[in-house]
Amino acid sequence: MSLYHSPLYKDALAQLEMASEAMGADPNIIERLKYPKRAIQVSIPIRLDDGTVKTFEGFRVQHNMTLGPGKGGIRFHPHVDLSETTALAMLMTFKCALVGLPLGGAKGGIRVDPSQLSRQELQALTRRYATEIGPFVGPDKDIPAPDIGTDSQTMAWFMDTYSQINGYAAHGVVTGKPISVGGSLGRTAATGRGVAYCINFAYDRMDKAIDKNTTVAIHGFGKVGCPAAEDLADQGAKIVAVSDVSGAVYAEDGLPVPKLVEWIKNGNLLNQYPGLKQISNEELLALDVDILIPAAIDGVITSKNMETVKARLIAEGANGPLTKDAIDYLTKKNVFIIPDILCNAGGVIVSYFEWVQGLANFFWDEDEVNRRLHSILKKAFDDVMKKHTHYKVDMKKAAMIAALAKLEAAMKLRGLFPG
Ligand code: NAD
Repeated sequence: MSLYHSPLYKDALAQLEMASEAMGADPNIIERLKYPKRAIQVSIPIRLDDGTVKTFEGFRVQHNMTLGPGKGGIRFHPHVDLSETTALAMLMTFKCALVGLPLGGAKGGIRVDPSQLSRQELQALTRRYATEIGPFVGPDKDIPAPDIGTDSQTMAWFMDTYSQINGYAAHGVVTGKPISVGGSLGRTAATGRGVAYCINFAYDRMDKAIDKNTTVAIHGFGKVGCPAAEDLADQGAKIVAVSDVSGAVYAEDGLPVPKLVEWIKNGNLLNQYPGLKQISNEELLALDVDILIPAAIDGVITSKNMETVKARLIAEGANGPLTKDAIDYLTKKNVFIIPDILCNAGGVIVSYFEWVQGLANFFWDEDEVNRRLHSILKKAFDDVMKKHTHYKVDMKKAAMIAALAKLEAAMKLRGLFPG
């Protein structure tokens, strides 16, 4: 299977090429950015609880490390493959550049359905994966973080494995760790909080404010979707629908967000939540709401269902939830789209804070984390709006141009090795 076959990779490449054309980027720089620096595939054999041995496929892709060590999540999902991981690593390169972090783009994952493994099996899987990719990661090389199907416990196992092998407590090897082993306050909620900040920046631009009449639907009520719902509900918005892989729940007058978050945290699925109207994920995406947050997986709004979307603002909480066709179509319909590399950058920004705090062994309080997060995202949002106006391009291309401009400058200064 080719490194470049996935729709997500083809979309990322198309975005890169169109942004480059719009801004007149150096073709030599674009040529380099089409390919990852390094793509690693590993086999991960583990002994299952029943005594049999099963082997899983794992990946780590480092797309570009001009600006600093690689940074990107680790995904445990049955659809993970090398091409999707490459596309996500590429998006990380642009995300880090866009928000001005001294980090490059990377991503990793294992092709597995984590819900089918016991805690012990998941620990074995994580530790063996960490061992296999161990030579290529580290605080100065590449720093993984949680993504779909992984969490702070996964990061603690990863950090412990790397530390056991290297003989010292290496806090800086991963971010998204539990607080007691070097995590940062505010990291768990950072991506969703960043989504809420970006929605507020967009509303400010439109001279609007979030209030009790603002309706919100969230596709994917996980690590990104839950805190985004909590923040927007705290501001008074009506969260009318949220979904997970099992389906969606709906309430015209607003859902009981804290109770639903608690339900999910206890490991339950939304289709088992009692007393609420159940709708399908497709119906959620087509709701007539002010704000739609696709925060589950990539490719959920495509040429097949884009005409059903009625939301006025779409905040891409997930990576690549809208295909290129859908972005073109909805932009023409005057839907305000906050692109993924900006909208969900809160996670990598606070991951960067976690890495910095770990290196300095000095930890900040949560207000400081949130203040700095807000300030970095605001600067990036304004930068994207400037590019949007200057180049007369959609928000997705504008974000890519803002990122590319920074990357291009750094890549030219560093030059091509060995020359
Ligand atoms: P998660 O596993 O915590 O949550 C994902 C949610 O989506 C769950 O509710 C799950 O049930 C649901 N889901 C999965 N497949 C679905 C499907 N086919 N249809 C409907 N719902 C489905 O994952 P997460 O960390 O919240 O990540 C969500 C997205 O955000 C991913 O695209 C991820 O790459 C991106 N992202 C996450 C972070 C982070 O800090 N966690 C940062 C940046 C981007």
